[in-house]
Amino acid sequence: MSMAYDSQPQTTVTATAAPQPQPQGPAALAASLNARLRDASPQGILKAALELFPGRVALVSSFGAESAVLLHMLSEIDRAAPVLFLDTGHLFGQTLDYRKSLVEKLGLTDVRDLRPAYQDLAVNDPKADLWKTNTDLCCDIRKVRPLDRVLLPDFDAWITGRKRFHGGSRLNLPVVEAGAEGKIKFNPLANWSKAQLDAYMAEHDLPPHPLVEFGYPSVGCWPCTKPVESGAASDIRAGRWAGSDKTECGIHTPRAATAAESEVGGDI
Ligand code: SF4
Repeated sequence: MSMAYDSQPQTTVTATAAPQPQPQGPAALAASLNARLRDASPQGILKAALELFPGRVALVSSFGAESAVLLHMLSEIDRAAPVLFLDTGHLFGQTLDYRKSLVEKLGLTDVRDLRPAYQDLAVNDPKADLWKTNTDLCCDIRKVRPLDRVLLPDFDAWITGRKRFHGGSRLNLPVVEAGAEGKIKFNPLANWSKAQLDAYMAEHDLPPHPLVEFGYPSVGCWPCTKPVESGAASDIRAGRWAGSDKTECGIHTPRAATAAESEVGGDI
């Protein structure tokens, strides 16, 4: 779809300025947008994303420990904006409950549940225990492929909740970047600290994910998420794939060769 890469925003540093037509690829466009938005507020970045890519940008949310902040900001700007939720089939029941209650509280009207395809599960994970032997392939069929099946044809840009304070590969996270899948990615909370998130949650009386009080500073799938000792809480993602080198699920990294087509759809 042409809008994303045929347009460029004005150079003036305002989050709401209208784009000026100028052909450029995703990397150049992302660099231009990042230069313009890197010091903008999260709300200003969200507004810019929605205005630059009307109907072609989605917020991807895990409905995890910190998700309420960005979802609340979005709801105050446009409750009908698309939200993509990766329901891997291995999520905690508390996450599914939280997704439902938070959507109702915030009044979001276009939350789409993305699930693995029957064919991928039947071929690669018929016993639903692939996570024990191959977490990369498990994430690929349960997260990356479901996301790409929707993101690649239907959107030109997406919005993530990643922050620099998460550390690891996120330490140098820009506010706007070109994603490995070729789309523009907005990271409105890249600059924010844990203290700012906590303050925002309190100010807006947002409900925490139910597992936070049980020592889960980051919440993913139940087989791959452990509670974190309070002394190690400075590493927010310490409980994710604990004991392995894996730190990311794959939706933010270059696609593996195995992430090929699985055109036969269907939800679990
Ligand atoms: Fe599978 Fe674990 Fe990845 Fe979830 S986080 S998709 S269970 S490997």
